[in-house]
Amino acid sequence: MEIDEFQGRLITVDHADYDAARAIWNGAIDRYPRVIARCSRAADVAIAMRYAREQNLEVAIRGGGHNVAGTAVCDDGIVVDLTAMRGVRVDPVGGMAQVQGGALWGDVDRAAQAHGLATTGGIISHTGVAGLSLGGGIGWLMRKHGLTVDNLLAAEVVTAEGDLLRSSEDEHPDLFWALRGGGGNFGVVSSFEFRLNPLGPVVLAGPIFWDAGDTGEVLHFYREFASNAPEELGTVVRFGTAPPLPAIPEELHWRPVIMVGTCYAGPIAEAEQVLRPLRALGRPLLDLIAPSRYVDHQSAFDSTVMHGWNYYWKSTYLPALGDDLIEVIAENAFAASSPRSYVLIFHLGGAVGRVAEAETAFGNREATHAITLDGVWRPGEDYGDRDIAWARRFFAALDSQREGVYVNFLGADEAPERVREAYGSVYDRLVEVKTKYDPDNVFHHNQNIQPRSG
Ligand SMILES: Cc1cc2nc3c(=O)[nH]c(=O)nc-3n(C[C@H](O)[C@H](O)[C@H](O)COP(=O)(O)OP(=O)(O)OC[C@H]3O[C@@H](n4cnc5c(N)ncnc54)[C@H](O)[C@@H]3O)c2cc1C
Repeated sequence: MEIDEFQGRLITVDHADYDAARAIWNGAIDRYPRVIARCSRAADVAIAMRYAREQNLEVAIRGGGHNVAGTAVCDDGIVVDLTAMRGVRVDPVGGMAQVQGGALWGDVDRAAQAHGLATTGGIISHTGVAGLSLGGGIGWLMRKHGLTVDNLLAAEVVTAEGDLLRSSEDEHPDLFWALRGGGGNFGVVSSFEFRLNPLGPVVLAGPIFWDAGDTGEVLHFYREFASNAPEELGTVVRFGTAPPLPAIPEELHWRPVIMVGTCYAGPIAEAEQVLRPLRALGRPLLDLIAPSRYVDHQSAFDSTVMHGWNYYWKSTYLPALGDDLIEVIAENAFAASSPRSYVLIFHLGGAVGRVAEAETAFGNREATHAITLDGVWRPGEDYGDRDIAWARRFFAALDSQREGVYVNFLGADEAPERVREAYGSVYDRLVEVKTKYDPDNVFHHNQNIQPRSG
Protein backbone atom coordinates (compact mmCIF):
# COMPACT_ATOMS: atom_id res chain seq x y z
CA MET A 1 0.00 0.00 0.00
CA GLU A 2 1.13 3.56 -0.72
CA ILE A 3 -0.04 7.06 0.09
CA ASP A 4 1.33 9.80 -2.18
CA GLU A 5 4.20 11.77 -0.61
CA PHE A 6 3.95 9.96 2.74
CA GLN A 7 7.56 9.51 3.87
CA GLY A 8 7.02 7.41 7.01
CA ARG A 9 6.11 3.70 7.09
CA LEU A 10 2.73 2.20 6.29
CA ILE A 11 2.27 -1.00 8.24
CA THR A 12 -0.58 -3.28 7.13
CA VAL A 13 -1.70 -6.73 8.23
CA ASP A 14 0.68 -8.53 5.84
CA HIS A 15 3.69 -6.73 7.32
CA ALA A 16 6.11 -8.60 9.64
CA ASP A 17 5.93 -5.74 12.19
CA TYR A 18 2.12 -5.52 12.20
CA ASP A 19 1.55 -7.25 15.55
CA ALA A 20 4.30 -5.30 17.30
CA ALA A 21 3.02 -2.05 15.77
CA ARG A 22 -0.59 -2.55 16.87
CA ALA A 23 0.38 -3.57 20.42
CA ILE A 24 0.09 -0.86 23.06
CA TRP A 25 1.05 -0.62 26.73
CA ASN A 26 -2.16 -2.26 27.95
CA GLY A 27 -1.95 -5.89 26.79
CA ALA A 28 -5.68 -6.34 27.48
CA ILE A 29 -6.40 -4.23 24.36
CA ASP A 30 -6.28 -6.27 21.15
CA ARG A 31 -7.29 -4.30 18.05
CA TYR A 32 -6.63 -4.74 14.34
CA PRO A 33 -6.30 -1.49 12.39
CA ARG A 34 -6.37 -1.53 8.59
CA VAL A 35 -3.19 0.53 8.46
CA ILE A 36 -0.72 2.02 10.87
CA ALA A 37 0.71 5.21 9.39
CA ARG A 38 3.99 5.67 11.21
CA CYS A 39 4.78 9.30 10.52
CA SER A 40 8.28 10.73 10.30
CA ARG A 41 7.37 14.45 10.17
CA ALA A 42 4.45 16.83 10.60
CA ALA A 43 3.74 16.72 6.85
CA ASP A 44 3.19 12.94 7.12
CA VAL A 45 0.63 13.51 9.83
CA ALA A 46 -1.22 15.94 7.55
CA ILE A 47 -1.03 13.51 4.59
CA ALA A 48 -2.31 10.64 6.77
CA MET A 49 -5.22 12.77 7.99
CA ARG A 50 -6.19 13.78 4.44
CA TYR A 51 -6.03 10.15 3.38
CA ALA A 52 -8.21 9.13 6.32
CA ARG A 53 -10.82 11.72 5.34
CA GLU A 54 -10.79 10.69 1.65
CA GLN A 55 -11.20 7.03 2.56
CA ASN A 56 -13.65 7.75 5.37
CA LEU A 57 -11.54 5.77 7.82
CA GLU A 58 -11.89 5.53 11.58
CA VAL A 59 -8.94 7.47 13.08
CA ALA A 60 -6.91 6.70 16.19
CA ILE A 61 -3.96 8.85 17.28
CA ARG A 62 -0.99 7.20 18.92
CA GLY A 63 1.53 9.14 21.00
CA GLY A 64 3.23 6.96 23.60
CA GLY A 65 0.51 4.28 23.42
CA HIS A 66 0.11 4.30 27.21
CA ASN A 67 -3.51 5.16 27.66
CA VAL A 68 -5.13 2.41 29.71
CA ALA A 69 -8.39 2.71 27.74
CA GLY A 70 -6.47 1.77 24.58
CA THR A 71 -7.63 4.74 22.53
CA ALA A 72 -4.29 4.81 20.66
CA VAL A 73 -5.39 1.91 18.46
CA CYS A 74 -8.65 1.19 16.61
CA ASP A 75 -10.18 -1.71 14.73
CA ASP A 76 -10.23 -1.51 10.94
CA GLY A 77 -9.29 2.18 10.58
CA ILE A 78 -6.02 4.11 10.47
CA VAL A 79 -3.65 4.68 13.36
CA VAL A 80 -1.86 7.99 12.98
CA ASP A 81 1.25 6.79 14.76
CA LEU A 82 3.81 9.30 16.04
CA THR A 83 6.13 6.81 17.75
CA ALA A 84 8.96 7.59 15.31
CA MET A 85 8.74 11.32 16.14
CA ARG A 86 10.52 11.50 19.49
CA GLY A 87 12.85 14.46 18.99
CA VAL A 88 13.42 16.93 21.84
CA ARG A 89 15.25 20.23 21.31
CA VAL A 90 16.12 22.21 24.43
CA ASP A 91 16.78 25.93 24.38
CA PRO A 92 18.57 26.34 27.74
CA VAL A 93 18.85 30.12 27.40
CA GLY A 94 15.17 30.62 26.62
CA GLY A 95 14.22 27.96 29.20
CA MET A 96 12.06 25.95 26.85
CA ALA A 97 11.89 22.71 24.89
CA GLN A 98 10.38 21.69 21.60
CA VAL A 99 9.10 18.15 21.83
CA GLN A 100 7.76 16.02 18.99
CA GLY A 101 4.35 14.40 19.39
CA GLY A 102 5.61 10.83 19.86
CA ALA A 103 8.19 11.55 22.57
CA LEU A 104 8.16 9.78 25.93
CA TRP A 105 8.73 11.52 29.25
CA GLY A 106 12.17 9.90 29.57
CA ASP A 107 13.19 11.64 26.33
CA VAL A 108 12.16 15.04 27.71
CA ASP A 109 13.60 14.51 31.20
CA ARG A 110 17.00 13.40 29.88
CA ALA A 111 17.31 16.24 27.38
CA ALA A 112 16.15 18.93 29.83
CA GLN A 113 18.14 17.62 32.79
CA ALA A 114 21.34 17.80 30.72
CA HIS A 115 20.87 21.55 31.32
CA GLY A 116 19.54 21.27 34.90
CA LEU A 117 15.99 21.95 33.67
CA ALA A 118 12.65 20.11 33.84
CA THR A 119 8.94 20.52 33.35
CA THR A 120 6.10 18.72 35.11
CA GLY A 121 5.73 15.25 33.55
CA GLY A 122 4.46 11.79 34.40
CA ILE A 123 6.01 9.63 37.10
CA ILE A 124 6.82 6.69 34.77
CA SER A 125 9.38 7.51 32.10
CA HIS A 126 7.92 5.33 29.32
CA THR A 127 4.60 7.27 29.31
CA GLY A 128 3.89 9.38 26.22
CA VAL A 129 4.22 13.16 26.40
CA ALA A 130 1.33 13.87 24.02
CA GLY A 131 -1.60 12.07 25.63
CA LEU A 132 -0.44 12.98 29.13
CA SER A 133 -0.01 16.66 28.30
CA LEU A 134 -3.27 17.03 26.41
CA GLY A 135 -5.20 15.59 29.37
CA GLY A 136 -3.53 17.95 31.88
CA GLY A 137 -0.40 16.27 33.21
CA ILE A 138 0.09 15.54 36.90
CA GLY A 139 3.45 14.64 38.40
CA TRP A 140 6.03 15.25 41.11
CA LEU A 141 6.62 18.89 40.13
CA MET A 142 3.01 20.04 39.71
CA ARG A 143 2.59 21.61 43.15
CA LYS A 144 5.57 23.86 42.48
CA HIS A 145 5.38 24.42 38.72
CA GLY A 146 1.77 23.62 37.83
CA LEU A 147 0.34 20.93 35.58
CA THR A 148 2.08 20.01 32.35
CA VAL A 149 -0.50 22.14 30.51
CA ASP A 150 0.36 25.12 32.69
CA ASN A 151 3.84 24.91 31.16
CA LEU A 152 2.65 24.56 27.58
CA LEU A 153 3.64 27.56 25.47
CA ALA A 154 2.52 26.45 22.02
CA ALA A 155 1.54 23.43 19.96
CA GLU A 156 1.78 22.60 16.28
CA VAL A 157 -1.48 20.92 15.32
CA VAL A 158 -2.74 18.99 12.30
CA THR A 159 -6.49 19.49 12.03
CA ALA A 160 -9.15 17.00 10.98
CA GLU A 161 -8.89 18.51 7.47
CA GLY A 162 -5.16 17.87 7.34
CA ASP A 163 -4.12 21.51 7.76
CA LEU A 164 -1.09 22.39 9.87
CA LEU A 165 -1.45 25.31 12.26
CA ARG A 166 0.24 26.77 15.29
CA SER A 167 -1.67 27.34 18.47
CA SER A 168 -0.62 29.51 21.42
CA GLU A 169 -2.01 32.36 23.54
CA ASP A 170 -1.84 34.54 20.39
CA GLU A 171 -2.57 32.07 17.59
CA HIS A 172 -5.87 30.18 17.63
CA PRO A 173 -6.19 30.92 21.35
CA ASP A 174 -9.51 29.05 21.62
CA LEU A 175 -7.80 25.91 20.36
CA PHE A 176 -4.85 26.52 22.67
CA TRP A 177 -7.24 26.75 25.61
CA ALA A 178 -8.90 23.45 24.63
CA LEU A 179 -5.64 21.59 24.07
CA ARG A 180 -4.70 22.23 27.70
CA GLY A 181 -6.87 19.45 29.11
CA GLY A 182 -9.27 18.55 26.30
CA GLY A 183 -7.21 15.57 25.08
CA GLY A 184 -6.92 14.45 21.46
CA ASN A 185 -10.34 15.83 20.51
CA PHE A 186 -9.19 18.76 18.39
CA GLY A 187 -6.28 17.69 16.22
CA VAL A 188 -3.04 15.76 16.11
CA VAL A 189 -0.25 17.58 17.91
CA SER A 190 2.95 17.06 15.94
CA SER A 191 5.02 19.16 18.30
CA PHE A 192 4.78 20.86 21.71
CA GLU A 193 6.68 23.80 23.15
CA PHE A 194 7.12 23.66 26.95
CA ARG A 195 8.49 26.07 29.51
CA LEU A 196 11.33 24.53 31.54
CA ASN A 197 12.25 25.32 35.13
CA PRO A 198 15.55 24.85 36.94
CA LEU A 199 15.71 21.56 38.85
CA GLY A 200 18.51 19.52 40.42
CA PRO A 201 19.81 17.61 38.55
CA VAL A 202 20.15 16.01 42.00
CA VAL A 203 17.05 16.23 44.21
CA LEU A 204 16.09 14.69 47.54
CA ALA A 205 13.62 12.03 46.49
CA GLY A 206 12.54 8.43 46.91
CA PRO A 207 10.07 6.19 48.68
CA ILE A 208 9.64 5.19 52.29
CA PHE A 209 7.80 1.97 53.21
CA TRP A 210 5.78 0.77 56.18
CA ASP A 211 3.99 -2.50 56.74
CA ALA A 212 0.44 -2.61 55.32
CA GLY A 213 -0.81 -3.06 58.89
CA ASP A 214 0.33 0.50 59.62
CA THR A 215 -1.89 2.01 56.90
CA GLY A 216 -4.31 3.78 59.27
CA GLU A 217 -1.51 5.33 61.29
CA VAL A 218 0.44 6.41 58.18
CA LEU A 219 -2.60 7.97 56.50
CA HIS A 220 -3.68 9.85 59.63
CA PHE A 221 -0.20 11.33 59.83
CA TYR A 222 0.04 11.88 56.08
CA ARG A 223 -3.14 13.97 55.82
CA GLU A 224 -1.71 16.65 58.14
CA PHE A 225 1.78 16.33 56.72
CA ALA A 226 0.57 16.70 53.11
CA SER A 227 -1.82 19.54 53.82
CA ASN A 228 0.98 21.54 55.48
CA ALA A 229 3.68 20.59 52.98
CA PRO A 230 5.43 23.31 50.99
CA GLU A 231 4.71 23.42 47.28
CA GLU A 232 8.18 22.08 46.57
CA LEU A 233 7.16 18.71 47.97
CA GLY A 234 5.44 16.21 45.68
CA THR A 235 4.15 12.98 47.24
CA VAL A 236 2.38 9.88 45.94
CA VAL A 237 1.09 7.17 48.26
CA ARG A 238 1.23 3.61 46.93
CA PHE A 239 -0.56 0.59 48.41
CA GLY A 240 0.42 -2.87 47.22
CA THR A 241 3.25 -5.33 47.56
CA ALA A 242 6.86 -4.15 47.58
CA PRO A 243 8.03 -4.71 43.99
CA PRO A 244 11.20 -6.71 43.31
CA LEU A 245 13.34 -3.67 42.46
CA PRO A 246 17.12 -3.85 42.91
CA ALA A 247 16.96 -1.09 45.55
CA ILE A 248 14.54 -3.10 47.72
CA PRO A 249 16.04 -5.92 49.84
CA GLU A 250 14.86 -9.36 48.74
CA GLU A 251 13.21 -10.18 52.07
CA LEU A 252 10.71 -7.36 51.47
CA HIS A 253 9.80 -8.38 47.91
CA TRP A 254 6.03 -9.01 47.54
CA ARG A 255 5.31 -8.01 51.14
CA PRO A 256 2.17 -5.82 51.40
CA VAL A 257 3.36 -2.30 52.16
CA ILE A 258 2.17 1.28 52.21
CA MET A 259 4.70 3.50 50.51
CA VAL A 260 4.98 7.28 50.39
CA GLY A 261 6.99 8.37 47.36
CA THR A 262 8.58 11.82 47.61
CA CYS A 263 10.35 14.35 45.43
CA TYR A 264 11.44 17.78 46.62
CA ALA A 265 11.85 20.49 43.98
CA GLY A 266 14.17 22.70 46.03
CA PRO A 267 17.44 22.74 47.98
CA ILE A 268 18.43 19.41 49.53
CA ALA A 269 19.06 20.87 53.00
CA GLU A 270 15.55 22.33 53.03
CA ALA A 271 14.14 19.02 51.82
CA GLU A 272 15.87 17.14 54.65
CA GLN A 273 14.08 19.38 57.14
CA VAL A 274 10.68 19.09 55.49
CA LEU A 275 10.85 15.31 55.23
CA ARG A 276 12.22 14.67 58.72
CA PRO A 277 8.81 14.19 60.44
CA LEU A 278 7.63 11.74 57.76
CA ARG A 279 10.81 9.71 58.10
CA ALA A 280 10.42 9.64 61.87
CA LEU A 281 6.91 8.21 61.67
CA GLY A 282 6.44 4.80 63.33
CA ARG A 283 8.72 2.00 62.27
CA PRO A 284 9.45 2.20 58.53
CA LEU A 285 10.51 -1.06 56.92
CA LEU A 286 12.73 0.79 54.48
CA ASP A 287 13.66 4.41 53.81
CA LEU A 288 15.06 5.01 50.34
CA ILE A 289 14.76 8.81 50.43
CA ALA A 290 18.17 10.10 49.34
CA PRO A 291 19.80 12.63 47.04
CA SER A 292 19.08 11.17 43.61
CA ARG A 293 19.35 12.25 40.00
CA TYR A 294 15.88 13.41 38.99
CA VAL A 295 16.05 11.29 35.80
CA ASP A 296 16.75 8.19 37.89
CA HIS A 297 13.90 9.00 40.24
CA GLN A 298 11.58 9.42 37.24
CA SER A 299 12.30 5.90 36.01
CA ALA A 300 12.66 4.09 39.36
CA PHE A 301 9.25 2.40 39.11
CA ASP A 302 9.20 1.82 35.33
CA SER A 303 9.57 -1.97 35.67
CA THR A 304 6.48 -2.27 37.90
CA VAL A 305 4.15 -1.38 34.99
CA MET A 306 5.60 -3.10 31.97
CA HIS A 307 4.32 -2.93 28.40
CA GLY A 308 2.16 -5.86 27.39
CA TRP A 309 0.83 -6.76 30.85
CA ASN A 310 -2.92 -6.49 31.37
CA TYR A 311 -4.37 -3.48 33.17
CA TYR A 312 -7.77 -2.39 34.46
CA TRP A 313 -8.15 0.99 36.20
CA LYS A 314 -10.86 2.83 38.11
CA SER A 315 -10.19 6.34 39.32
CA THR A 316 -11.67 9.41 40.98
CA TYR A 317 -10.65 12.63 42.63
CA LEU A 318 -11.04 12.72 46.40
CA PRO A 319 -11.20 15.42 49.07
CA ALA A 320 -8.71 15.65 51.94
CA LEU A 321 -8.49 12.33 53.79
CA GLY A 322 -11.20 12.33 56.47
CA ASP A 323 -11.48 9.48 59.00
CA ASP A 324 -14.22 7.72 56.97
CA LEU A 325 -12.19 7.87 53.81
CA ILE A 326 -9.09 6.52 55.52
CA GLU A 327 -11.16 3.62 56.82
CA VAL A 328 -12.50 2.76 53.34
CA ILE A 329 -9.02 2.97 51.85
CA ALA A 330 -7.44 0.82 54.56
CA GLU A 331 -10.20 -1.76 54.17
CA ASN A 332 -9.92 -2.10 50.37
CA ALA A 333 -6.43 -1.12 49.30
CA PHE A 334 -4.82 -4.48 50.00
CA ALA A 335 -7.71 -6.70 48.88
CA ALA A 336 -6.52 -7.27 45.29
CA SER A 337 -5.48 -10.80 44.38
CA SER A 338 -2.60 -10.10 42.00
CA PRO A 339 0.69 -9.18 43.69
CA ARG A 340 1.19 -6.60 40.93
CA SER A 341 -2.09 -4.74 41.46
CA TYR A 342 -1.75 -1.50 43.37
CA VAL A 343 -3.42 1.76 44.38
CA LEU A 344 -1.94 5.25 44.01
CA ILE A 345 -2.99 8.49 45.67
CA PHE A 346 -1.57 11.66 44.12
CA HIS A 347 -1.50 14.85 46.16
CA LEU A 348 -2.51 17.90 44.10
CA GLY A 349 -2.90 21.46 45.40
CA GLY A 350 -0.23 24.15 45.37
CA ALA A 351 0.30 25.65 41.93
CA VAL A 352 -2.39 23.37 40.40
CA GLY A 353 -5.16 25.06 42.37
CA ARG A 354 -3.76 28.57 41.98
CA VAL A 355 -4.67 28.72 38.29
CA ALA A 356 -8.30 29.78 37.78
CA GLU A 357 -10.66 26.92 36.88
CA ALA A 358 -11.60 28.35 33.46
CA GLU A 359 -8.10 29.36 32.41
CA THR A 360 -7.43 26.00 30.78
CA ALA A 361 -9.61 23.05 29.81
CA PHE A 362 -8.40 20.94 32.74
CA GLY A 363 -11.41 20.35 35.00
CA ASN A 364 -11.44 19.92 38.78
CA ARG A 365 -8.38 21.98 39.67
CA GLU A 366 -9.59 22.26 43.25
CA ALA A 367 -9.28 18.52 43.91
CA THR A 368 -6.99 17.50 46.76
CA HIS A 369 -6.19 13.95 45.66
CA ALA A 370 -6.52 11.68 42.64
CA ILE A 371 -6.78 7.99 43.45
CA THR A 372 -6.30 5.22 40.92
CA LEU A 373 -7.17 1.59 41.62
CA ASP A 374 -5.08 -0.46 39.25
CA GLY A 375 -5.59 -4.15 38.56
CA VAL A 376 -2.44 -5.62 36.97
CA TRP A 377 -1.89 -9.17 35.74
CA ARG A 378 0.53 -10.69 33.30
CA PRO A 379 -0.48 -12.64 30.19
CA GLY A 380 -1.47 -16.16 31.27
CA GLU A 381 -2.20 -15.16 34.87
CA ASP A 382 -5.79 -15.60 36.08
CA TYR A 383 -6.09 -12.60 38.44
CA GLY A 384 -7.98 -10.52 35.87
CA ASP A 385 -11.61 -11.19 36.78
CA ARG A 386 -10.94 -10.96 40.50
CA ASP A 387 -9.00 -7.71 40.28
CA ILE A 388 -11.47 -6.09 37.91
CA ALA A 389 -14.14 -6.94 40.50
CA TRP A 390 -11.86 -5.60 43.27
CA ALA A 391 -11.32 -2.26 41.50
CA ARG A 392 -15.06 -1.87 40.87
CA ARG A 393 -15.94 -2.79 44.44
CA PHE A 394 -13.37 -0.38 45.87
CA PHE A 395 -14.58 2.35 43.52
CA ALA A 396 -18.19 1.80 44.65
CA ALA A 397 -17.06 2.05 48.27
CA LEU A 398 -15.64 5.52 47.49
CA ASP A 399 -18.90 6.67 45.93
CA SER A 400 -20.01 9.12 48.61
CA GLN A 401 -16.61 10.86 48.52
CA ARG A 402 -16.05 11.11 44.78
CA GLU A 403 -15.32 14.53 43.26
CA GLY A 404 -14.80 14.24 39.50
CA VAL A 405 -12.06 12.35 37.71
CA TYR A 406 -8.82 12.94 35.83
CA VAL A 407 -9.60 12.27 32.17
CA ASN A 408 -6.33 10.42 31.58
CA PHE A 409 -7.13 7.84 34.25
CA LEU A 410 -10.47 6.78 32.67
CA GLY A 411 -10.59 3.15 31.60
CA ALA A 412 -12.11 1.44 28.57
CA ASP A 413 -15.48 0.58 30.09
CA GLU A 414 -16.54 3.91 31.56
CA ALA A 415 -19.95 5.44 30.90
CA PRO A 416 -19.79 8.51 28.56
CA GLU A 417 -21.00 10.70 31.49
CA ARG A 418 -17.62 10.23 33.10
CA VAL A 419 -16.08 12.46 30.40
CA ARG A 420 -18.42 15.22 31.53
CA GLU A 421 -17.43 14.44 35.08
CA ALA A 422 -13.78 14.93 34.10
CA TYR A 423 -14.43 18.44 32.77
CA GLY A 424 -17.07 19.79 35.10
CA SER A 425 -17.69 23.48 34.49
CA VAL A 426 -15.44 23.74 31.40
CA TYR A 427 -17.31 21.09 29.41
CA ASP A 428 -19.67 23.41 27.52
CA ARG A 429 -16.83 25.58 26.30
CA LEU A 430 -15.01 22.46 25.10
CA VAL A 431 -18.08 21.56 23.05
CA GLU A 432 -17.89 25.02 21.39
CA VAL A 433 -14.25 24.57 20.43
CA LYS A 434 -14.87 21.00 19.29
CA THR A 435 -17.73 22.18 17.07
CA LYS A 436 -15.45 24.77 15.50
CA TYR A 437 -12.35 22.60 14.90
CA ASP A 438 -13.82 19.10 14.46
CA PRO A 439 -17.52 19.45 13.62
CA ASP A 440 -17.67 15.94 12.11
CA ASN A 441 -16.12 14.38 15.21
CA VAL A 442 -13.35 12.75 13.20
CA PHE A 443 -11.37 12.55 16.44
CA HIS A 444 -13.79 10.43 18.44
CA HIS A 445 -11.62 7.44 19.32
CA ASN A 446 -10.77 9.07 22.66
CA GLN A 447 -12.52 10.35 25.77
CA ASN A 448 -14.93 12.04 23.46
CA ILE A 449 -16.30 15.54 23.59
CA GLN A 450 -19.12 15.54 21.08
CA PRO A 451 -19.61 18.56 18.83
CA ARG A 452 -23.01 20.23 18.68
CA SER A 453 -25.04 18.71 15.87
CA GLY A 454 -26.57 20.73 13.00
C1 LIG B 1 2.16 3.54 33.76
C2 LIG B 1 1.44 4.83 33.62
C3 LIG B 1 1.77 5.92 34.40
C4 LIG B 1 1.09 7.11 34.27
N1 LIG B 1 1.44 8.17 35.06
C5 LIG B 1 0.84 9.36 34.86
C6 LIG B 1 1.27 10.50 35.58
O1 LIG B 1 2.17 10.45 36.41
N2 LIG B 1 0.64 11.67 35.36
C7 LIG B 1 -0.38 11.78 34.44
O2 LIG B 1 -0.87 12.87 34.26
N3 LIG B 1 -0.80 10.72 33.75
C8 LIG B 1 -0.21 9.52 33.94
N4 LIG B 1 -0.63 8.44 33.23
C9 LIG B 1 -1.80 8.56 32.33
C10 LIG B 1 -1.38 9.14 31.00
O3 LIG B 1 -1.50 10.55 31.10
C11 LIG B 1 -2.25 8.64 29.87
O4 LIG B 1 -2.13 7.25 29.79
C12 LIG B 1 -1.87 9.28 28.54
O5 LIG B 1 -2.90 9.03 27.61
C13 LIG B 1 -0.56 8.78 28.02
O6 LIG B 1 -0.18 9.45 26.86
P1 LIG B 1 0.27 8.65 25.55
O7 LIG B 1 0.76 9.63 24.57
O8 LIG B 1 1.17 7.54 25.94
O9 LIG B 1 -1.17 8.11 25.13
P2 LIG B 1 -1.67 7.28 23.87
O10 LIG B 1 -2.22 6.00 24.38
O11 LIG B 1 -0.68 7.23 22.78
O12 LIG B 1 -2.86 8.20 23.41
C14 LIG B 1 -4.00 8.38 24.19
C15 LIG B 1 -4.87 9.43 23.54
O13 LIG B 1 -4.23 10.68 23.62
C16 LIG B 1 -4.45 11.40 22.42
N5 LIG B 1 -3.15 11.63 21.77
C17 LIG B 1 -2.02 10.91 21.88
N6 LIG B 1 -1.05 11.47 21.14
C18 LIG B 1 -1.58 12.55 20.56
C19 LIG B 1 -1.08 13.55 19.69
N7 LIG B 1 0.18 13.56 19.26
N8 LIG B 1 -1.93 14.53 19.28
C20 LIG B 1 -3.22 14.55 19.70
N9 LIG B 1 -3.74 13.63 20.51
C21 LIG B 1 -2.93 12.65 20.94
C22 LIG B 1 -5.38 10.58 21.58
O14 LIG B 1 -6.71 10.96 21.82
C23 LIG B 1 -5.14 9.19 22.08
O15 LIG B 1 -6.27 8.37 21.92
C24 LIG B 1 0.05 7.23 33.32
C25 LIG B 1 -0.27 6.14 32.52
C26 LIG B 1 0.40 4.96 32.66
C27 LIG B 1 0.00 3.80 31.82
